[in-house]
Amino acid sequence: MNFQFDEELTMLRKMVRDVAEEKVKPRAAEIDETGEYPYDIFQVLKDAGLTGVSFPEAYGGSGLGATGLCIAIEEVSKYCCSTGLILLLTYLPTLPIRIAGTEEQKQKYLTPIAMGEKRAAFCLTEPGAGSDAANIKTKAVRDGDDYIINGTKCFISGASVADYVTVFAKTDPKKGMKGMSAFIVEANTPGFSIGTLERKMGVRGVPLCEVVFDNVRIPKGNLLGVENEGFKVAMKTLNSMRPIVGARGLGLAQGALEYAIAYAKERTTFGKPLTDHQGLRWMIADMALQIEAARLLIFQAAELIDAGKIDKRYAGALSMSKLYPTDMAMKVAIDAAQILGGHGYIKDHPMERYIRDAKQLQIVEGTSQIQREIISKNIIEYGLPRRDW
Ligand SMILES: Cc1cc2nc3c(=O)[nH]c(=O)nc-3n(C[C@H](O)[C@H](O)[C@H](O)COP(=O)(O)OP(=O)(O)OC[C@H]3O[C@@H](n4cnc5c(N)ncnc54)[C@H](O)[C@@H]3O)c2cc1C
Repeated sequence: MNFQFDEELTMLRKMVRDVAEEKVKPRAAEIDETGEYPYDIFQVLKDAGLTGVSFPEAYGGSGLGATGLCIAIEEVSKYCCSTGLILLLTYLPTLPIRIAGTEEQKQKYLTPIAMGEKRAAFCLTEPGAGSDAANIKTKAVRDGDDYIINGTKCFISGASVADYVTVFAKTDPKKGMKGMSAFIVEANTPGFSIGTLERKMGVRGVPLCEVVFDNVRIPKGNLLGVENEGFKVAMKTLNSMRPIVGARGLGLAQGALEYAIAYAKERTTFGKPLTDHQGLRWMIADMALQIEAARLLIFQAAELIDAGKIDKRYAGALSMSKLYPTDMAMKVAIDAAQILGGHGYIKDHPMERYIRDAKQLQIVEGTSQIQREIISKNIIEYGLPRRDW
């Protein structure tokens, strides 16, 4: 077990910290205010090589895996949760391809994302199937050398700015979760369209979309892996996402705490700075403690993922790295805002934005309740996570 990042990862953190401070921080409030996708920030991430941070070098990336991506997401999310999500979207929709794709599919679809030339989105959720993902109704029917996809997905992050999506559909609906398959669909395919654009509470820089598949015909070569084995691909994808979402919470919480400490040093009440009041100092201690605990869970999980340990054996440890940091981010955001008193409630400070953004993290990619279900089942079956796996 090594608590020290190697030189490459340390340099990555320093580089992203500078980029975040210089380019992301000044735009964060405006991105939230306008609710528009920040193409300029995507360009910043591309120019810094960050769109490719998690990808193997063979596909145009820098080969720093989930660990590198967590570091990058942590640093940008200190200022802007939307930017953290933009980076996350270089990973989530590409995971089904990394996990189940052929070499040809990987070359064609991973490389342009790593290079920042294209964007992708991940289509699993439907109006009647969120937590209960096996219940999706979207269908893909084989027709000669093609599949024809029909159905509607909802709450899809970034779909309206994506060049392709990875999508899950039933190929044998009678078989339930054993009749699901994964596909790649290019956004310019006839019948593919964006429906409702949701008006949402936070993370307002990344559009949240309904995606409609109306007789979308795709070549059979766009099937990912084996027909009817898509549910396993979906689960491995979601397992691999846990610390990545956690890293958004980790960054957000640090950003909120650092802001609150800076404020508390300046603001005086009863003749002394807020930082001299024990009641607030203990809040700061508790927040810092939770942030550090979250960090350990996240980087332990990232290490598992980079070692290819993403199947159900590891699901408990992986889910812990999503559950704890995201619940922690919600709590820290609220407590950090409290330190600012009335100023924490108004938009001249970022605290209310941190609160709105943190809420998203407890819902996406498996709610906090679903993570508890996964953890308890996994611990009962396999025992507590161990270092000698
Ligand atoms: C901002 C945002 C971005 C998103 N991005 C994407 C995306 O890019 N791609 C995508 O596919 N999806 C995306 N989603 C969808 C998201 O993953 C789902 O909203 C989430 O999984 C919950 O599903 P649901 O909304 O249907 O809630 P439901 O499944 O209806 O759950 C409702 C409530 O019941 C609880 N619950 C459900 N089942 C259980 C149980 N067994 N035990 C205890 N409690 C339970 C849940 O925790 C929740 O509190 C996004 C959602 C949001 C809000």
